[in-house]
Order: sequence, then C-alpha cells, then structure tokens
Amino acid sequence: MTVTAHGPLPPVPYDVAVVGAGVVGCAIARELARRPGLRIALVEAQDDVGQGTSKANTAILHTGFDAVPGSLEARLVREGSRALAAYAAESGIPVEPVGALLVAWDEEQRAALPRLAEKAERNECHDTRILGPADLYAREPRLGPGALGALHVPGESIICPWTTTLAYATQAVRHGVDLHLNTPVTGVSHTGGPHRLTTGRGTLTARHLVNAAGLHADALDRHLGHQDFTVTPRRGQLIVYDKFARDLVRHILLPVPTALGKGVLVAPTVYGNVLLGPTAEDLDDKSATGSTAGGLALLREKGRRILPALDDEEVTAVYAGLRAATEHDDYAVAAHPGQACVTVGGIRSTGLTASLALAAHVTGLLEDMGLDGGPARELEPVRMPNLGEAFPRPCRQPELVAADPEYGTLVCHCERVSRGEIRDALAGTVPPRTLDGLRRRTRVRAGRCQGFHCGAAVRDLWERHRHGPQEARA
Ligand SMILES: Cc1cc2nc3c(=O)[nH]c(=O)nc-3n(C[C@H](O)[C@H](O)[C@H](O)COP(=O)(O)OP(=O)(O)OC[C@H]3O[C@@H](n4cnc5c(N)ncnc54)[C@H](O)[C@@H]3O)c2cc1C
Repeated sequence: MTVTAHGPLPPVPYDVAVVGAGVVGCAIARELARRPGLRIALVEAQDDVGQGTSKANTAILHTGFDAVPGSLEARLVREGSRALAAYAAESGIPVEPVGALLVAWDEEQRAALPRLAEKAERNECHDTRILGPADLYAREPRLGPGALGALHVPGESIICPWTTTLAYATQAVRHGVDLHLNTPVTGVSHTGGPHRLTTGRGTLTARHLVNAAGLHADALDRHLGHQDFTVTPRRGQLIVYDKFARDLVRHILLPVPTALGKGVLVAPTVYGNVLLGPTAEDLDDKSATGSTAGGLALLREKGRRILPALDDEEVTAVYAGLRAATEHDDYAVAAHPGQACVTVGGIRSTGLTASLALAAHVTGLLEDMGLDGGPARELEPVRMPNLGEAFPRPCRQPELVAADPEYGTLVCHCERVSRGEIRDALAGTVPPRTLDGLRRRTRVRAGRCQGFHCGAAVRDLWERHRHGPQEARA
C-alpha cells in the first residue's frame, strides 16, 4: 500500500498514470486495480483525494431522468447510479433514497411536466408520476404557496460524496495503486516511448495516460496537442442549514430545469442538514470557490419561495464548487490511441453519480488500445465509517463502546464524533493531511458550532498524532 506526498517518484514506468484524484480519477484507479497485472499511479496536485469539485457539490445520486437521451452522460449516469447504489450498500457509504419532486410554479412549468416524464421514460426511468397540488402538498406540507404540481422521481437519492471518493481511493491503494499526492503535473511529453510527466516532484513515466484533471483537463490536453474543449468554471454556491431544519423537507425539491442547469434546489443531506443551492455562474477563474453576498442573497430569495420556513432557520455553513462546464452538451471523453491516452473532460454536474460507469467506460477504452492487465478480479470490499445521520454512529452502538471505550468518548458533540473515530481516520489507508481532511473523514468540526467548542481538543489530538506514538500515549 503506497501513499506518498513528498520525495522523489519511482523511476520505473507505470502501466497507467491517472492524473487527478477526484471522484472520477479515484474510481478509474479503482477499476484499473481490478486488473492484477497493472502498475498504476494516481497522481494528484493537492494534499488529499477529492479536494477539487468532488468535495463541494450537491451530493445527489441522480437517476439521470433529465439527461439528454442517447448522450454518453445519460448512459453513464444511469449505469453509474445503479452501480454506486450497490457499491454504497457494500461499502457503508450513506445513501438515503428520499426521491425528488420537480415542482412547477407556473402554468408554463406545469405544461412542461409531461414532456419531462416522457424524457424520463426515454432515460429508462419508468417510475415517475405527475402529481397535482393536493398530492404534492400532502407529500411536502411546508412547501411555499402557489405550486401547481410536480413530477415525482422516486429513484433520486442523497449520498455522502466525501466517503465515496475516499472509499474508491482506499480500495485502489489497498489493491496496489500508488497514490502520489502533492504532485502537480506541469507538462507531458510523448515521443514514442512512455509518457513523461513533469511534476512538482520530478518526472513520472507511464505507458498509458488518463487525464481526469477536472477543471484543468483542458490544460493537460493542450500538452498533448488537443484543443477539443475548453473548461469554463461554473460556480455553484450553496447554503447549509442547521439540523433543526431537517424536518421541514422530505424530498429533494427541484425546479423545472433551464438551459443553464438543474437550477436551485432544496434538499436534505445525509448528515441531517438541509441544503439550498446551487447558483450557476460562469467565471474565468478556476480557483474562485468563494461565496458572495449576491449569490447568497439570490439563494435565500429562491429558498423563501420554495420553503418559506427555511428562512428562519440557522445557517451552519456556506460553500461553493466549480462545475467543469465546456462548450459541449455532453461529457468530453476521448480516446487517443496513437498517444495511448484517454481524456475524461467536461464532467460537469453528474460526475459523482456517473463515477463508477465512467471508470468502466475509460478502462474499456484503454483495453481497446491494447492495455492488458489480465482478467478482472473481484476486489476485497472496503467498509467505510458511517457519517450519515440515518445510520448509527459508533457512540450509539453499546457493543462497540463496550469493546472499545474510545468510541464512547465524544470529542465533537455537535456531530457526535468520538476519539475512536478520529483515531481510526488518522490511521486510515489514505490518512488526512490537514484538519479539513479529518473533517471530511469524520465530520469533526462540521456541526453547528463549526469547531468552536471542539476545535482545541481536535487540534490537540491532531498534533499528538503528528508528533508520534510516544506523545500520543502521554
Ligand atoms: C455545485 C455543484 C453541484 C453538483 N452536484 C452534483 C450532484 O448532486 N450529483 C453529482 O453526481 N454530481 C454533482 N456535481 C458534479 C460533480 O461534483 C463533479 O462532476 C465531480 O466531482 C467531478 O469529479 P472529477 O474527479 O472529474 O473532478 P475533481 O473533483 O475536480 O478532480 C480533479 C482533480 O484533478 C486534480 N488536478 C487538476 N490538475 C492537475 C494536474 N495538472 N496535476 C495533478 N492533479 C491535477 C485536482 O486537484 C482535482 O483533485 C456537482 C458539481 C458542482 C460544482
């Protein structure tokens, strides 16, 4: 098991280098790890997996009911959704199949519902149903006044995006993938032999290359001479409401979609909060993940219409993510057999859902160009720590606490995170390198006080861990 974050890179060529350890790159590395004959490198610029778009999305496991029928995205979202639901059950990734309601607020939107139901049919989503206002308000009593009806999509679910990425990475590393963090790829040359990747930690060579660099996939593609697409970051700002708001909403409440995207939604999260967002702002800056007063005001105005009572609830956090939008209406996945390379670009608003299907698709493209790692094997399953509110945390499992009292010693009271869970995360296969990484693995400091009460205790545990076992035992 190898995870490196500094020092020189191995000199021997890999069979495949996957650039970008977001949810997509980690899923691809995991799928490639099923071929026992391959040496695989997963190369990430930042100090953790899932630090790009994959850490800041709306966390919905889509059915693909509203995808463009016949597109690559429609197929991969549909297949990925089923695959991830099964994988989540096996791996302990929290998922809640709450279903979605696509709410019509005016006559034009109501008139669009049959068309959307028919589109859902074409996307093999056969269980949608149009509801009148009485049915709709019976299902969502706190919905704002004036809704005329809705399309009910029972298959839409909420999921934990952080655990998903971490589960893929953990399983990949346990099956031989070398994860190289803090390794930004700044250049690629391919003149016959293996690819030579210039990185912040020296040169890495690989016979095949997968470009899963998210927002920067276009820049990496340019190094190989391709101009197939340009990424325009589309910012989505979101507001997270306190857990007291959770009872206000039962489903994912979606608007009727527009050309700019899926629109502003209100949805529960698997952590027991309520989410309002995202905005859709096309920007030039691929690092503009800040929230703005204007963006938050717009969200609150829309939220007031959808669920008026939400406006009185406490806000726990705000965040923003950047979608890798391009000039194309579909994913920009391209095989370049002459260069032994696959580009996985333009994975905009559905990449979490489609990740496992994208991984299978990309692996197929690599095999078509001659990659041979032998027959695919079953991987040893991983069991991830539960971060979901609907499933018991360790401190609520008496048998666990009796066997290991560290699970009964709470550090973060808002999220009920125990010392035992923090200890386990710090000793994980892909351990955190920052307190934010620890938060994504445990939810410590992610609750209503945002670390005000537990911050010092968490930092103390962190420092003791960093300075070695002697001090940790002291
Ligand atoms: C607001 C918002 C809401 C969304 N909601 C949903 C949703 O509800 N459901 C859903 O399925 N999807 C959703 N998405 C989409 C989903 O989050 C993305 O499609 C997915 O995270 C993309 O993953 P990725 O691995 O391609 O990109 P990223 O997560 O961005 O990963 C790319 C990685 O590549 C690394 N990298 C870049 N350049 C280099 C380089 N030169 N060298 C080394 N490493 C490099 C980056 O550091 C990064 O870690 C949403 C997105 C946003 C922004």
